[in-house]
Amino acid sequence: MSKKQVFQFLDAPREMPRKLPLALRTAGDWNELYGAFAQPEASHQAGRCLDCGNPYCEAKCPVHNYIPNWLQLVQEGRILEAAALCHETNPLPEMCGRVCPQDRLCEGACTLNDDFGAVTIGAVEKYIVDTAFAQGWRPDLSKVVATGKHVAVIGAGPAGLACADRLVRSGIAVTVFDRYEQIGGLMQFGIPSFKLDKSVIATRREVLEGMGVVFKLGVEIGRHLTLEHLLTGYDAVFLGLGAYRYTDGGLPGQDLAGVLPALPFLVQNGRIVTGSDPHGRPIAGWEDTLAMPDLAGKRVVVLGGGDTGMDCVRSAIRLGAASVTCAYRRDEANMPGSAREVANAREEGVQFLFNRQPLAVESSDGKAASGVRVVETRLGAPDSRGRRNAEPIDGSESVVEADIVIIAFGFSPKVPEWLAAQGVDAQPNGRLAVGAQGRLAYQTGHDKLFAGGDCVRGADLVVTAVQEGRDAAASIARMVLRGIKAIPAALES
Ligand code: FAD
Ligand code: SF4
Repeated sequence: MSKKQVFQFLDAPREMPRKLPLALRTAGDWNELYGAFAQPEASHQAGRCLDCGNPYCEAKCPVHNYIPNWLQLVQEGRILEAAALCHETNPLPEMCGRVCPQDRLCEGACTLNDDFGAVTIGAVEKYIVDTAFAQGWRPDLSKVVATGKHVAVIGAGPAGLACADRLVRSGIAVTVFDRYEQIGGLMQFGIPSFKLDKSVIATRREVLEGMGVVFKLGVEIGRHLTLEHLLTGYDAVFLGLGAYRYTDGGLPGQDLAGVLPALPFLVQNGRIVTGSDPHGRPIAGWEDTLAMPDLAGKRVVVLGGGDTGMDCVRSAIRLGAASVTCAYRRDEANMPGSAREVANAREEGVQFLFNRQPLAVESSDGKAASGVRVVETRLGAPDSRGRRNAEPIDGSESVVEADIVIIAFGFSPKVPEWLAAQGVDAQPNGRLAVGAQGRLAYQTGHDKLFAGGDCVRGADLVVTAVQEGRDAAASIARMVLRGIKAIPAALES
């Protein structure tokens, strides 16, 4: 690499793709916040990579993408090769480029981060794959030889899709079952379209179907089909079930009118604004369908500071709320949500009340919410995971007025009865137990059942679900192809 290229970052500042104008966002535009790079911008930003020789970005990326290599290909305009390289490590790069909290992952580890601004790795990853797909590029499976093996995947979220991608690349037929009518899991039914446009998921479905993946949607295992049926009919089963048990704060007043659980609110709103169901009718297989209240002109308070909380506050802004406040019990530095999303929320007019722990939802008429009683907190000693506990300060209670209160305290997995009946163990926190001594990685206590993603890790990220689905596929192949053929290179990422 020439000297001029090495020092390009000195003259070229970090730049993200243009954002949708603020006036449109606050007026209720649900389009993706970040636009797309044109080729010169992508090449310019990719050229800022130092090629520092110690790619901490790769180490910090959960799927260990070959980041400096594909940045170099973008600089040289070799987009189709870059797309193929992206897919070597990441079955869903266009999703991760959009929704990964890059400030905590690849970009946070970039050598340029502190003094010059990190390379815009996520935006370039999105550019590569969107551009390649638009040019008709598709993964090349021409050398794949069918093995005659067939695996069932339960769950079309990122874990299940990543697993399916890796299996079909190695000649193993895959049928993916999901209880919902569309693929994507929480990427489809959870993450709002201003972060991830749903057409991106539709394109990925077309790509996976083109690779031979079969989807059976609207089929809930345990209701429409038994697990025994899959265990008999398939060589192995991957469980990518997600984590859907709400963390119940047990707040007095949480049953009042105007108090909404976060995920049903986001799901129902997403269905209405994307036009998939403008009337917000109940979703097949979804037990918590919500009648959407009108937020226009209302005072909205969101409890919780994670990604889900940030999606709720920013949705409430787009729905025309008069004021939107996020109350979080720790300080800003300890928020679990991405710093970029917090900055975007603030820019859109969200007020943050840090170090406030909710005590109760209050009502002036005994029927509907009128406010949230909170107490101020200070940070105490770290807990077992190193996070500092929020300790209430005596005598610091106050009430934040609210017409709508959205509770976003997080989720955890729950083992369904039909799975427990097969002897699959879970930890006390509901996470499926996998990879015990003597088992393959991601293999449960049942030989033919493998699992990954949120149902194993607890509620986490798209990219970690992708990594687990991808790596579980390698274990599945090891088992079903034993004695037939060597593990295909596609699985050795
Ligand atoms: P899921 O995506 O939950 O998919 C599980 C699938 O399994 C679902 O489609 C479900 O229908 C299906 N299923 C379950 N049981 C059955 C059954 N019995 N039969 C058939 N199908 C079944 N992560 C990020 O990286 N960035 C973000 O910005 C981000 N924002 C988020 C915002 C919200 C509101 C939420 C809730 C999460 C967010 N996340 C984000 C987290 C991320 O979406 C999840 O970690 C990820 O989707 C987990 O993937 P998964 O495949 O394990 O599970
Ligand atoms: Fe960064 Fe996520 Fe892409 Fe890895 S997958 S390079 S962490 S945006």
